[in-house]
Amino acid sequence: RVQFSRLRLTGFKSFVDPTDLVIADGLTGVVGPNGCGKSNLLEALRWAMGENRPTAMRGDGMEDVIFAGAASRPARNFAEVVIQLDNSDRLAPAGFNDADYLEITRRITRDVGSAYKLNGKDVRARDVQMLFADASTGAHSPALVRQGQIAELINARPKARRRILEEAAGISGLYQRRHEAELK
Ligand code: ATP
Ligand code: MG
Repeated sequence: RVQFSRLRLTGFKSFVDPTDLVIADGLTGVVGPNGCGKSNLLEALRWAMGENRPTAMRGDGMEDVIFAGAASRPARNFAEVVIQLDNSDRLAPAGFNDADYLEITRRITRDVGSAYKLNGKDVRARDVQMLFADASTGAHSPALVRQGQIAELINARPKARRRILEEAAGISGLYQRRHEAELK
């Protein structure tokens, strides 16, 4: 079981100043007034795990995650998010398993794009996405529930609702594989 232990943000959306969050064992609650950045925190997790759809970040383009400026603060040139994972169970990929912690860093720079690091070493987006490929932790994981998604589930037509529930149950991949087998 992979345990998130820390989340650090710099210049990501409303988190213009470096922010360091310790994620303790068990249930974590984030509370605060409307617009204080609760959803941005969840998006930061998703983004550092390799999410590349601007819509999943509530933006038009990927650079929209960079702090865009406020009344008294100029816009930033980059955004960076670091996820620290507790690796005491040694579940990391080969070559990283002597480390007690895994740090995944994603940085996006204006007009340059995204770069990823795993414990300080340059890696590809794909390497990070593979690290989280397990459905229970990935960027598309049904465990990460977007705001409004519950209402979508309630209002969905039965077929669409079934698809969401199957994805949550982790069996949607079976249909895909059966379909592929039938084509052969
Ligand atoms: P609610 O309780 O309404 O769901 P929330 O705590 O989830 O609110 P968020 O949606 O996380 O709040 O944060 C929204 C805030 O983030 C807005 O004030 C918005 O202006 C700010 N924000 C989003 N993207 C950026 C950006 N690129 N630069 C600066 N601020 C941003
Ligand atoms: Mg919100």
